[in-house]
Amino acid sequence: MLPLVALVGRPNVGKSTLFNALTRSRDALVHDQPGVTRDRNYGVCRLDEERHFVVVDTGGIAGDEEGLAGATARQARAAAEEADLVLFVVDGREGPSALDDDILRWLRKAARPTVLVINKIDGIDEEAARSEFARYGFEDVLTIAASHRQGVDDLVDEALARL
Ligand code: GDP
Ligand code: MG
Repeated sequence: MLPLVALVGRPNVGKSTLFNALTRSRDALVHDQPGVTRDRNYGVCRLDEERHFVVVDTGGIAGDEEGLAGATARQARAAAEEADLVLFVVDGREGPSALDDDILRWLRKAARPTVLVINKIDGIDEEAARSEFARYGFEDVLTIAASHRQGVDDLVDEALARL
């Protein structure tokens, strides 16, 4: 079985963009509208024959538990719970939101190895973005700009080191 890495985060933080950068595909639907990705979407991140893992792009977690948004949130949780490593993706431009706090709470319950990934650091102060999320208490924090592939190779190295 290939190791499984789950991308988890609220809508619009760049999970699908990161998924595409990791799998070098256009499989995941990237859109300006929050909540475009409804289902789990699997792909393979392959460096070479020995080093590869499966990535699952989960739908945005929309907060309310009713209807489609609720189903999507449950899918995301299921994906996180079966993952060998969770990449908790947040938006470095917007900083922590109430929804990020909620996700953090259930991620702690899921108790899977988790790395905080601060995305969208292109053109912003990386240290300021890091300090905004310092209260989340993660030992492992990566800063990336998925749409520019910035930091994505380091992220792959970090993921592989932890799998
Ligand atoms: P998802 O809902 O978490 O899957 O987010 P998407 O991947 O669909 O991205 C949401 C929006 O953020 C899109 O408009 C992306 O182009 C944009 N985006 C993603 N990554 C970055 C980044 O590194 N920097 C910037 N500036 N925008 C990004
Ligand atoms: Mg998406």
